[in-house]
Amino acid sequence: MDIDLTYCQDFKAVCAKINITGVCPKCGRTVQFIPIEDCKDFYFNDGGCNDYYFGQRLCPDRNCFTHVFFKLQKNSGGSIYTEIIPPKFVLRNLDLNKLPKEIANCINEAVVCYDNSCYIASAIMIRKTIEEICKIQNATGRDLHSRLKDLESKITISKPLYDSMFELKYLGNDAAHVVSTNFEHIGEKEIELGLVLLVEILRALYEHKDLLEQFKLLKCN
Ligand SMILES: [Zn+2]
Repeated sequence: MDIDLTYCQDFKAVCAKINITGVCPKCGRTVQFIPIEDCKDFYFNDGGCNDYYFGQRLCPDRNCFTHVFFKLQKNSGGSIYTEIIPPKFVLRNLDLNKLPKEIANCINEAVVCYDNSCYIASAIMIRKTIEEICKIQNATGRDLHSRLKDLESKITISKPLYDSMFELKYLGNDAAHVVSTNFEHIGEKEIELGLVLLVEILRALYEHKDLLEQFKLLKCN
């Protein structure tokens, strides 16, 4: 692939450090990252109203001090986009506060494991989240497979999402055993997609009703 290197000449080193706020990829806290002495930020204007800044920062937490890179896009209206690198899995459109506590704890731990490249541990936490859903919905059965079968009549969810709960169970089973029977490999891609599916399941179960209620409130009487 040809890269137009003429753009690189337009990058300017800037001395005044801009404030960078984001989620620390190690400790998971939302922090204002601290600048590194003698480590300049770089600035680039796209010829229009967009300014881009690039640079390095440290997490301010003394127990963490994680080194991150950032990319910030700004226009005349202020900051519009900040990317912290390495990224943290973002629970898009999912509010953990709206979930039952046990489920929120489980998916949160699955995400922390993913962010730290502990994919086997993440798969096990994804499976545990499915188990918690069955428990909270009072699904019964001697094992998770039969509890998931029982769950079908107790929840309203699309068929593909319901079926994916079995797939996530298989993922967790393979993660917990020496010999895998379903997935050839359990790595970043498998867990990322697993988490995306899990988020969709949780949204369908715990957020759609709330969204509908909010929408109804906008009606006149
Ligand atoms: Zn940190």
